[in-house]
Formats: sequence, C-alpha cells, structure tokens
Amino acid sequence: MELNLINKILADTAYVRMGGREEEKKAAEYLVGLCNQFTAGAYLEEFAVDLGDIKRAKLYADGKEIACKAYMCCGSGIAEGELYYLRATDKYSLSQCRGKIVMIDTYLGYWRYRDLIENGAIAFISFDGNINYADRDIDQRELRSYISKGEKLLGVNINAKDAVKMVEEGVKDIRIEVEQDEYEGRSQNVVLEMKGYREEYIVFTAHYDSTSLSTGAYDNMSGCLGLLHMIEYFSKNPHSYSLRFVFCGSEERGLLGSKAYCETHGEELDKCVLCINLDMIGCIMGKFASCCTSEKELVSYITYMGLECGFPVSVYQGVYSSDSTPFSDKGVPSVSFARHAPGNTGTIHNSYDTKALLTAEQIEKDSEFITKFADRMANAVWCPVARKIPDNMKQKLDEYLLRKKPE
Ligand SMILES: [Zn+2]
Repeated sequence: MELNLINKILADTAYVRMGGREEEKKAAEYLVGLCNQFTAGAYLEEFAVDLGDIKRAKLYADGKEIACKAYMCCGSGIAEGELYYLRATDKYSLSQCRGKIVMIDTYLGYWRYRDLIENGAIAFISFDGNINYADRDIDQRELRSYISKGEKLLGVNINAKDAVKMVEEGVKDIRIEVEQDEYEGRSQNVVLEMKGYREEYIVFTAHYDSTSLSTGAYDNMSGCLGLLHMIEYFSKNPHSYSLRFVFCGSEERGLLGSKAYCETHGEELDKCVLCINLDMIGCIMGKFASCCTSEKELVSYITYMGLECGFPVSVYQGVYSSDSTPFSDKGVPSVSFARHAPGNTGTIHNSYDTKALLTAEQIEKDSEFITKFADRMANAVWCPVARKIPDNMKQKLDEYLLRKKPE
C-alpha cells in the first residue's frame, strides 16, 4: 500500500471508537469506503451489544470525593460500606470481603468477579493507569454480561494514584452512587468476500474498535491496515481459495464481533479452512510474533518461512486473546500475527496508543510478510493446516472462554 495512504488512514481514524458507539460505526463506514477503493462489495453486518449511558458516578472516601467512572452495565443504586483492599486471593483474604466494598488490583476477570460474589462483597473498586505517569486518566470499564451472569455489583474504576492514596491513608468508609440507563445497542462487522476458484475459504480478521481512552492506532488500526494491504494484493492477484475479510467490531468488549460472526455464519464455518488474524503490527520497536491455535506443524512452517524470507518471527502454539479465538473454538485452525512493542516503548488501552508508536514503513513490511504467508495458503493445492484443534489447545480454549478455571 502507498505509505501516504497508510499515514492518511491513521490520521483519519485518530479518534476513540468504542464498540457500540457512534464513532465505531463511523469508522466502520470509513472502512467500507476504503475496501471499495480496491474492490467492490464490502458491507456492514450488525449485531446486538449491551450498552449503558452513565448519568451519575460518585465515589466518596471518608466523605471526600474521588474521581471515578462507573462500570457500564453494573446497575444503578447506592452502596455504602467499609473499604477492604483484596491484596491476595487465599481463603482467608477472600473471607474478609463479606459486607465490604472491595478494592481489587487486577483486571476484573470472570473468576475474580465470582470470588467477589461468592464471598459477599457489596460493591467493588478497580484502578488503572500508572502512578508515574502525569495523566489522571480513568478507563471506562464495563461489567460484561458473561461475567456478571445477571448478578450485578456496583463498581467504579479510579486512577492508580487515588487508589494508592486511599490505601496509604487507611480510608474506612466508602459510598458509591451510580445512575445509568442500560439498553441494547448495535455494533457491526465490516465484511468483504472475494470469490476464488474453490468454495472453501480463508477468513482474515482484525478489529477496528478501541477502548475508551485510546485512539487505537497500534491496537488495532495497524491490523486493519494489514487487512487492507491484503485486499489490495488479492484484488490484483489470483487466489484459489475464496477469501473473507472481517473487520471486527467490539473486540475490546470481549471479542463480540468475531463471536457474532461465528454465530451468524456457524454452518458456513465447515468450509472455512483457516483464520488469519492481525492484532497490533507495525510498531517501531519490538519483535514480530505469531501465535498458532492449530497443530504444531504450522509453528514449524511459519518459523521456517521467517528464516527463508529473512523476516525474524517468534512462533508458538497457544490461544491468542483476539478475534481468532471464536473461530478456533468452532474448529477452525487459526494464526494471529502481531509485533509486540517492549512495554516501555509502546502500551495499549490508554491515551498513549497513538500513531507515534508506528511507522508506515514497518506496517508495510509486516503486512508484506503476512501477505506472503496468506498468498501461499490462498493458492495452496490443499491447505496444509489440518482442520482440527489439538487437545492441548482445546483445553486452553476452555480456560480462555471461561468454561474451565485455569489451574
Ligand atoms: Zn487488539
């Protein structure tokens, strides 16, 4: 792709686009326009998502107001109680949650939320950001329906600086007030199909939504640019397998776009031989990696290909926290490509994820390698990746998709 066009797309999409919000739809329509520059036929496919418009969110610590954002879809109401900082999750520490407002210092995952519910917490406080950064940003979090399963606790997110201060000062009494309208909204995938000689197809995925503070250049307009690179390439070059490009919406909200696609197109997945997913490429620093949710042979194949092409790539077998996973859960082998920036040179899900982390040249180089791999698969006489998910990967999928608690 033209480097100027890459830079223009990054500039045009430098806005927050949370799943289910207007800005996300604007970005989806923009992507349709870009696809159509290369080949006709891109369209939007909508799906339902939970939304909550926060009207009021207050946190008082010993009577003093602390800046906070309420969790979307955590319900409305008032919670009052003693603060308890859950530092560890041994049985004793958990037993101290009863009747308290619990501060957690990790991401609110499914098993941590179950801990809070089972141990009688009445509300929760999480925090993010970094005490060494100048900003006082607070990420907009949500209580996902597959985490709450209908059992809602009021929750707020605060900046790490305030969390440290509350613990340092030994804050006792907490009051949380939340008022929000919860409703069903719409998000959308951008889909483009390119027919090949065969009916069987390869699906390409990359999400285009962002989190609340991020303009999502690295995570993941960069991956969308990789998809556009391949759309341009295959619009000019033959491909034996049919190709489907899915720019996924609401990935940051729990892979909702790819899950919706796999639901809606469940029966057609029988004809899907491989999923190639791009989530974060083109950063200036860091190494290129590839995660295969497939038989081990694909790991060797891509490792060899990296050496053959003089393009270093660290390949491993695993489950990637991205849109490839719902496909693999339906039996489609997948591979995710990413360039991982060292944490002190590029971070995501905050206001520091901007175009400054990337160069058009590196996006182009990463896209070229991925396209080379895609071209081999798309023109294979027989897609060499076995269409099965090995048992060790099935177990990892069970854990990732919360059917089984990790050991
Ligand atoms: Zn991402």
